[in-house]
Amino acid sequence: MTVAPTRSLDWNQIFTELGTVEIIRDPAQVAKLSKDYYSYSPLLVADLADKVGDVVVRPANEAEVMQVAAVCTRYKVPLTIRGAGTGNYGQCIPLRGGVILDMSKMQAVKWAKPGVARVEAGVRMAALDKQTREMGWEIRMAPSTYRTATIGGFIGGGSGGIGSITYGQLRDRGNLLALRVVTMEEQPRVIELRGDDVYKVAHAWGTNGIITELEIPLSPAYPWAELIVTFPDFMTAARFGQRLGDADGIVKKLICICAAPISNYFAPFKEIIPNNSHCALLMITEPCLEPFSELVKELGGTVRYQKSAQDAGKGVAIGEFTWNHTTLHARSIDPSLTYLQTLFPADKELKLVEHMYHHFGDEVMMHLEYIRVNGVVLPAALQIVRYSTPERLQEIIKYHEDNGAFIANPHTYIIEDGGRKTIDPLQLEFKKMVDPHGLLNPGKMRAWEEL
Ligand SMILES: Cc1cc2nc3c(=O)[nH]c(=O)nc-3n(C[C@H](O)[C@H](O)[C@H](O)COP(=O)(O)OP(=O)(O)OC[C@H]3O[C@@H](n4cnc5c(N)ncnc54)[C@H](O)[C@@H]3O)c2cc1C
Repeated sequence: MTVAPTRSLDWNQIFTELGTVEIIRDPAQVAKLSKDYYSYSPLLVADLADKVGDVVVRPANEAEVMQVAAVCTRYKVPLTIRGAGTGNYGQCIPLRGGVILDMSKMQAVKWAKPGVARVEAGVRMAALDKQTREMGWEIRMAPSTYRTATIGGFIGGGSGGIGSITYGQLRDRGNLLALRVVTMEEQPRVIELRGDDVYKVAHAWGTNGIITELEIPLSPAYPWAELIVTFPDFMTAARFGQRLGDADGIVKKLICICAAPISNYFAPFKEIIPNNSHCALLMITEPCLEPFSELVKELGGTVRYQKSAQDAGKGVAIGEFTWNHTTLHARSIDPSLTYLQTLFPADKELKLVEHMYHHFGDEVMMHLEYIRVNGVVLPAALQIVRYSTPERLQEIIKYHEDNGAFIANPHTYIIEDGGRKTIDPLQLEFKKMVDPHGLLNPGKMRAWEEL
C-alpha cells in the first residue's frame, strides 16, 4: 500500500507540523521504545531484532493524538501505537519504521462509578485498580503485567489473565463496554464504538484506529488471600485446579498449576516450595478459605504459603509468578526456554492434559491457567518449552493440534496466524474506513497485506 520509505521523508517539516506534541529523537531512546517482549520467542528474535522506529511522539490528550494522526496521514508515515510495550509477539514493533505513538501520558480516569469506569487508554492497570478499590470495585481481569501494562494495550493486544477464571476473556461480550478511536484520515475523526461494535477494534494490535478512551466493567473488590499449595503428583494438582474452578461457592481470582520443575525457577519461593514440587498458585477470597481448605485436604495438598489480603501490597505478588510471568521467571534462569499458548478441550477428566504431560515429559513443562469459557471451566496452558529447533517447535505445535488442543501460536507477529486463525471481515472493513492508507502498524494484518 502507500507507506512511504521513511528515510526520504522531510522529518524537520514533520516535527514543525507536530507543534506542541512531545517528540523523542534520541536514537537510544527510540530504539528502546521500539521493542516489546518478543524475545520470548526465538523465531521472533530472528525476524524482529533489527526493527526500529524513526521517532517517538507522546501526545498528552486526544487533540494531540489527532494532530499526530493528521500529520502522519499527510506524509504517509507508518504509525505504531505503544502502551507499555509488554506484548509478547512484537505487536508494537514497527516493521516499517516511522512514528511510535507512546500513550503513556494519557492516564486520566475520566470517571468511575459502581460497576464501570471510563479511562484514557494510557492508564496503567494497577493504578486504575488502586483507585477503583477505594470505592469497593476492581478491574475484572488483568494480565500478570498489570503493574506496568496500560488498559489500551491490554484491549489492543491482550487476551485475559488474573480474573479470567470468573469473568472469561476479553473477547467475551460484556468485558469491554465502549471505546473511542481516532482515525488515520486526512481529517482525523473520533468514533465512539459501543456494544458488539467494540470488536471492530479490540485485539486488532493497533491496526484499526488509535484508542484514546475506554469504558470497562468493574467487579466488586474482594479481600484476596494468596496461597501456594503443593501436591504429590502433577495430575492431582491439575485435578485440584479443575475441582476448585468448578466449585461455584468458592470465590477465586486465580488458579495456576505448575508441574515440577517449574517452581524451582521461582527464586523468592525457594525456601517455601520444596524442590521439584507440583504446585498451585491461587487467589481465594478470605471468607472462602475454610471450604477451600477442605478441598485441599480431600486431594492431599499441603499449604506452603499464605498471605492475607491486608498484606497484599507487601512483598512479592503471587500473580507475578503466573500467566506469562511463569515464563519470565523460568527464562531469567534459563534464557534458552520458550513457551506455548494452548487451550485444552473441556474435559473434567483432563485426559488430553495427562496425555501431553506424559508424552513430552520435561521437554514441554506443563503450566495450566484455569479460565472460564462460555460458562465452562477449562485449562488454558502456557507450557514452558525446552527449545531446540524451529522444526521441533512446529512438530510440538502440530502434535497438540492433531490431538485436539487449540494453539494460539506465540511465535508469529501476524494477527491471523496467532490465536485468531481466520481473517476477521469486520476488522478488515473497519480498517478500510479508518486507515485507508494502511499506515497503522503495517505488516501485522494479513487480510490487509493481501488485499
Ligand atoms: C511477563 C509477561 C506476562 C504477560 N501476561 C499476560 C497475561 O496474563 N494476559 C495477557 O493477555 N497478556 C499478557 N502479556 C502480554 C501483555 O503484557 C499484555 O497483553 C498487556 O496488557 C499489554 O499492555 P501494554 O500496555 O504493554 O501494550 P503494548 O504491548 O504496548 O501494546 C499491545 C498492542 O496493543 C496496541 N495498542 C497499545 N495501545 C493502544 C491504543 N491506545 N490504541 C490501539 N492499539 C493500542 C499496540 O500497538 C500493540 O499492538 C504478558 C507479557 C509479559 C511480558
